Amino acid sequence: PRELERLEAAFTAALADLDAVIAIIRASRQAAIQPESPDWRGPVVVVSALGGATDRLLGVAAEAGAGDIEGAREHVRALCDRHVEVAGIITTPAERTAVEQFIRQEFAELERIVGALGVLREVSPRWLDAIASMGEILSSRIVAAALASHGLAAGWVDARKAIVTTGDFTAAAPLWHETTAADHKNIDPVLIERNIAVVGGFVGATREGVTTTLGRGGSDYSAAIIGSCLDATEIQIWTDVDGMLTADPRIVKHTHVVPQLSFDEASELAYFGAKVLHPATIQPAVAKNIPVRILNSKRPSDISGTLVTSSRPPGAGPLTAIASKKGVTVVDIASTRMLMAHGFLRRIFEVFDRHETPVDMVTTSEVSVCLTVDNTARLGRIVEELQEFGEVHVEADRALVA
Ligand code: ASP
Ligand code: MG
Repeated sequence: PRELERLEAAFTAALADLDAVIAIIRASRQAAIQPESPDWRGPVVVVSALGGATDRLLGVAAEAGAGDIEGAREHVRALCDRHVEVAGIITTPAERTAVEQFIRQEFAELERIVGALGVLREVSPRWLDAIASMGEILSSRIVAAALASHGLAAGWVDARKAIVTTGDFTAAAPLWHETTAADHKNIDPVLIERNIAVVGGFVGATREGVTTTLGRGGSDYSAAIIGSCLDATEIQIWTDVDGMLTADPRIVKHTHVVPQLSFDEASELAYFGAKVLHPATIQPAVAKNIPVRILNSKRPSDISGTLVTSSRPPGAGPLTAIASKKGVTVVDIASTRMLMAHGFLRRIFEVFDRHETPVDMVTTSEVSVCLTVDNTARLGRIVEELQEFGEVHVEADRALVA
């Protein structure tokens, strides 16, 4: 029930948030228009699903898989109502009716799918993607029409025609060559017409056109993929925090926003506990040297966010930010046999490798190796094998400050 309440709140917020979204896009559009440069284009807007929609769609899939067809259908109807309600933001009656029809058709189709899956009592990853993708397909349609009705010329691009992926359902990887070609073919014409292109995030399709998704939270990744394929000047990720902070505000009182940092620093900070973005998602942008800006959608005007760039800004101080992570386990291996020996570290790390356990941080001296691990599932066996090399100490429940 608490989970449902949370989803309910997110859903309610979606409606009010759309006004803010339109305002952000309007400002970004104004910034893009440069009368002195006849070739200005953009922006391309990549949207996520309505808050909570993906969770609900996956919930529907789970109910269908468990054979609860009636329960699943009830949730489908509620989802449909909510999308129709949100589409109320479209002020042009003809456009609103068209989008409403699209929404109803999609959900009618979902009801049929749910009926079939409920009989089979099995939901394959391929079907999971077909169902989960609906959140972004619908939200992007709604946003495109809403922009148009608010005086911002916009064209909707079906995400399945913008990102071509492998067939690894629920965690598909982009095929770069095909995606670049698809974006030039399907997004460029919208931009050349001086329209804003609106695409659903998270969703793609195989070469054969079968719907896939990039994995949970994949909308940021979609933005980085499309931005890098179209050589965008900047990629902006609008989230609900001010950017990367110098420390966790729940622990430290006077934090401030880091104005600029390198991709490597952002990756390390994210790995060691900073919860802003999954660094892998912006990797395509970094590879092409496109700066990524993290901004707060709740405060669109008064902050410039954090800029993530390939290299460190010139003149940056030695310390960028502090992150921490709890629940870390420390393993200490001490041995006098290590003195002047070679190949010792290799043998120690081979043990972790054999047990598929990543090591996070390492310190060594001439007679000891100390390292930290996150995943302790196979630590018992690991310690047994390490004891061949020397004395092993394990300390659980430590924390790491980076
Ligand atoms: N809607 C998708 C999810 O909830 C993707 C995203 O939000 O980035 O995982
Ligand atoms: Mg998201």
